[in-house]
Amino acid sequence: MTPILRSHLESIPAYVPGRVIPGAVKLASNEVTFGPLPSVAAAIAEAAGGLNRYPDNAMVELTETLAKKFGVTADEIAVGCGSVILCQNLITVTAGPGDEVLFGWRSFEMYPTATQIAGAVPVQVPLTGDDTFDLSAMADAITDRTRLIFVCNPNNPTGTVVEAADLEAFLERVPPTVVVALDEAYAEYVRPSPAQRYDAIQLHRRHRNLVVLRTFSKAYGLAGLRVGYAVADPTVIEALRKVHVPFSVNTLAQVAATACLRADDELLARTEPIVAERVRVAAQLRAWGLPVSDSQANFVWLGLGADTAEFSAAMTDQKVIVRAFDGDGVRVTVTDPHENDAFLAAVRAWMSARG
Ligand SMILES: *Cc1c(COP(=O)(O)O)cnc(C)c1O
Repeated sequence: MTPILRSHLESIPAYVPGRVIPGAVKLASNEVTFGPLPSVAAAIAEAAGGLNRYPDNAMVELTETLAKKFGVTADEIAVGCGSVILCQNLITVTAGPGDEVLFGWRSFEMYPTATQIAGAVPVQVPLTGDDTFDLSAMADAITDRTRLIFVCNPNNPTGTVVEAADLEAFLERVPPTVVVALDEAYAEYVRPSPAQRYDAIQLHRRHRNLVVLRTFSKAYGLAGLRVGYAVADPTVIEALRKVHVPFSVNTLAQVAATACLRADDELLARTEPIVAERVRVAAQLRAWGLPVSDSQANFVWLGLGADTAEFSAAMTDQKVIVRAFDGDGVRVTVTDPHENDAFLAAVRAWMSARG
């Protein structure tokens, strides 16, 4: 006798953890190489003494600090245990069995998985030829069952961004009853051209169905603590708070995220060398004739197609861990020059081995 489990879970793949290879350069998860700032580490150490108490379930201080940063009210902010959970909770509050969740593809792997867990239907609209979200095709794909749309900008794993005018035209076309999640996990790394520049908070003011998602895991360097947030209309925020798992944003995470916001300038300054490295790494790969998309994030995307598995195995052999999407391409985190050089050297070796 086996336990009865919800049958639709059978079609959902189980999570496969990344391989850990001692001494390898890990460029698979878009992390930063530096640890928390001294001020953040001190705040964590101080809060550790109070861990016999439950976390603040209303997350008052962090919520208010975020509200002040963005010039919104506290009822326009929801904090979650990583913005992944906020993505999942947005699905929970909008879509049930038979409803459609729409997004570009390829994109963040958790969109289809979380959609299927909810019993809803993932609708995947192919990216444009330059690996960018095809917003007009996505608007065309909206049906009366569409409940939620993810726009990942910059897109994970291709790093591309949409044009501001396209995003605005798209938001005009989406019915106001359909929630749009603008997933900006890599926003701090974007150096937009004039045509790519938009203000997500302004868009949120104009479109009450728009949810802006951000995280402390990437540029803020707190991936191990799990904190993300949403800026949205109070009606959506209230729904997100209803489904929030109590106390899931722990005390250390709240304190560390608040301390990061106090050191905002210093942390954002740390994105500059990574942006410079992104430009350098992408230029070198292109000079070698490799297909590299136009990334605005802390990673580059190589659309290697059928060569993906072989390339990724060659990187692993040289102790460089990248994120491969079989048959499609490889996403490689850009970090400090030393690690990026290790990656470039591995690519060069792969190319000369192929002749
Ligand atoms: C990393 C990432 C997130 C956030 O991850 P958390 O660590 O859960 O905050 C969200 N969306 C995308 C596209 C990401 O790449």
